[in-house]
Amino acid sequence: MSHLPAEPEFEQAYKELVATLENSSLFEEHPEYRTALNVVSIPERIIQFRVVWEDDKGNLQINRGYRVQFNSALGPYKGGLRFHPTVNLSILKFLGFEQIFKNALTGLNMGGAKGGADFDPKGKSDSEIRRFCEAFMRRLCQHIGAETDVPAGDIGVGGREIGYMFGAYRKERNKWEGVLTGKGLDWGGSLIRPEATGYGLVYYVEHMIAHAGKGSFKGKRVAISGSGNVAQYTALKCIELGATVVSLSDSTGCLIAEGDAAFTPAHVNEIAAIKLARKPLTQFSNATAQFKYIPGARPWVHVGKVDIALPSATQNEVSKEEAETLVKNGVQFVAEGSNMGCEQAAIDVFEAARRGKGGVWYAPGKASNAGGVAVSGLEMAQNSSRFNWTAERVDERLQQIMKNIFELSIANAERYVKAEEGELPSLVAGGNIAGFLKVVQAMHDQGDWW
Ligand code: NDP
Repeated sequence: MSHLPAEPEFEQAYKELVATLENSSLFEEHPEYRTALNVVSIPERIIQFRVVWEDDKGNLQINRGYRVQFNSALGPYKGGLRFHPTVNLSILKFLGFEQIFKNALTGLNMGGAKGGADFDPKGKSDSEIRRFCEAFMRRLCQHIGAETDVPAGDIGVGGREIGYMFGAYRKERNKWEGVLTGKGLDWGGSLIRPEATGYGLVYYVEHMIAHAGKGSFKGKRVAISGSGNVAQYTALKCIELGATVVSLSDSTGCLIAEGDAAFTPAHVNEIAAIKLARKPLTQFSNATAQFKYIPGARPWVHVGKVDIALPSATQNEVSKEEAETLVKNGVQFVAEGSNMGCEQAAIDVFEAARRGKGGVWYAPGKASNAGGVAVSGLEMAQNSSRFNWTAERVDERLQQIMKNIFELSIANAERYVKAEEGELPSLVAGGNIAGFLKVVQAMHDQGDWW
């Protein structure tokens, strides 16, 4: 089937899914699922709107706002909002498409969606951020609701922005309801939601390490990219489990721990404060001593020998050459905190290394970063029951969900993909097949395809 050629990111995500389905026995056993693929790859609805707001100087500013409501077979549309100057329909369609299958993997009742705006929070005052969030939500609020579509945060959208948007929804619609997740704890938020994507990623990788018989995080060297929500909590959990975190980065460059140096929780907390103020990593107080700052660079070719690599910044942040360097330097586990963190050529390098001696193991974001949306689903459940769970209860459910996703990915890879004796199962294929089956079977039951 054909798609608009001007959607490179969506094409990439679509082709990645299709390639794994084609390389399995799924279509041989169920040729009817080709029809399902054609239907599931077109969004149910796309909303585009104008956002007009006023900056601090009294000037009129205009941005483009979007919500891609991709699939609602499994539940209300669910997926984050991204505020970044690069946001366009191709990026939101890729994110929304992957979100469908990720949400299916969690086993919770959530459809797939994504949205956002080409607004750049950098260099804006807090008042400008508030005015933009309110203007954005005044338009979006017509199209969402606790039983219809429940957005969350993503790049450029954290607790502060969710608060402003929740307030705008409440005033505009005269309703207090669980219409957004990632809310403040006193007004409907869930404990562990801020931590959930990073923690969930680490829980998933713990299963990879154990399954491969390579011990635990203790003593392993971990390269992480990004320094936002996902990277921060990924780093903190790795450190808690006894690993050495050797890198973090942002859109301006990367910080590499030199020699015996390693990021501590105090370092990560300082970086969190810098990022909350929308400042670059050059502001990090240790940047020149133990931590080398390399402007304009990503960490992968600068980290030396690492056991684990966790891309956690943005899409296409690991190239073929960077993947080759990581493999050459002994990486054993690669798992995406970011969505589509690896270029297809990089995935091909990791998947080839999985089949070769030494068995590098790669996990796609659809599976490994599903912890965030999983706890968003638990936040929705708490909002519906008007009852807050303890941190322990949420964390336990998160751990269980990540374990289920891992086991489901293994089971589907083993069931549908031929493998050599002793080869690690493909987590990309297993995750894609498991998510796809769950969604298209629900769509079939509901008459979306036949
Ligand atoms: P944040 O906005 O908190 O942080 C994003 C980080 O990535 C920042 O360090 C930012 O640098 C960096 N970054 C953003 N764009 C680029 C770019 N084009 N090139 C290089 N670096 C970039 O976002 P999150 O941590 O929430 O999201 C990170 C990734 O995780 C995204 O891919 C997102 O889709 C994914 N994700 C997030 C979930 C969540 O719950 N938040 C859930 C599942 C996936 P700078 O500060 O300089 O802009």
